[in-house]
Amino acid sequence: MSFSLADLPIRDDLKGLTPYGAPQERVPVALNVNENTHPVPADVAADILEAVGAALVDVNRYPDREFSLLRDSLAGYLGHGLSRDHIWAANGSNEVIQQILQAFGGPARSVLGFPPTYSMHSIIAAGTGSTWLEGARDEGFTISPETAVAEIERLRPDVVFFCGPNNPTGTPLDLETVRAAYDATEGMVFVDEAYAEFMPAGQPTALTLLEGRERLIVSRTMSKAFAFAGARVGYMAAHPAVVDALRLVRLPYHLSSLTQAAAVAALAHADEMLSMVDDIKAQRDRIVRVLTELGYSPWPTWSNFVLFGGVDDPADVFRRLLARGVIVRDLGIEGHLRVSAGTEAETTAFLDALRDIRLSS
Ligand code: PMP
Repeated sequence: MSFSLADLPIRDDLKGLTPYGAPQERVPVALNVNENTHPVPADVAADILEAVGAALVDVNRYPDREFSLLRDSLAGYLGHGLSRDHIWAANGSNEVIQQILQAFGGPARSVLGFPPTYSMHSIIAAGTGSTWLEGARDEGFTISPETAVAEIERLRPDVVFFCGPNNPTGTPLDLETVRAAYDATEGMVFVDEAYAEFMPAGQPTALTLLEGRERLIVSRTMSKAFAFAGARVGYMAAHPAVVDALRLVRLPYHLSSLTQAAAVAALAHADEMLSMVDDIKAQRDRIVRVLTELGYSPWPTWSNFVLFGGVDDPADVFRRLLARGVIVRDLGIEGHLRVSAGTEAETTAFLDALRDIRLSS
């Protein structure tokens, strides 16, 4: 018998848990983890390379622990009157979320989320020893202000997690819900805005609620709209006191000088980096249209992906798409699959493969 995890003296609360497990398969058309499938434009990549090269010369030294230049760049990108003091970053927004729960969650503390939502929220809660509480959503995966308040009063969490637009459903988050939740709790309120750039142009985000709300945190990532998933840069905006709280739990020098240099160089080209967002939104809307024509039931989405119902056997359709070189995501939601919007060619490959499967079954 071979030695395994179950034989280790692991923390009791981690026994039997499963790790994050989106398959990482090499397939021609990967539309399973909501990446931006458009590469970084060549001229921007050249600038990033130069910046990373310059940083490499000093890599014998620890990086700026406060990553001040990067925080200035992120504040400038976000606008909304934010400055360096309101901004914090880490290796992906997952790490930001982990730091938030290290500071405000933990043993004997609870986190309220509203499934189906981003799977890492509950996994990070478990990893930090926080109790994960599940709130109910309304029709169509929405959360009304009344429902949020009722769930907060029922469950009395220390931290409330929202995700807007929500992964995996794409559902917009009503800012009234965030306002009402904030007023209903004395705990922290966190809004994960990983997909904010894919919202309809001009729509206000939770950043507009930060002023005067010291317990509100809004996170973003460069992984999606910025096509920077491999570089690992996520960040948050909040009152400077929240930044002080995260300083207590971060590891010193957690953002490498190479990461900082790459992100600052990319942010200097924000417009070009974001130039594919409109194309991706167009492909997303095309997916919704064609899926409807094929008889599926896509949910309304403000993200770069579409959750669609009406799939008789999701595991079977997943396998048959994979056999045709297309990977999507089976999240275990009955009758549903999720697909990320790709380039025009990738989206066509997905839609053609699905049409083929639909017609042959
Ligand atoms: N939040 C949400 C809602 C996500 O979907 C993801 C990535 N799938 C993340 C956060 C994490 O992104 P990253 O760590 O790459 O910033």
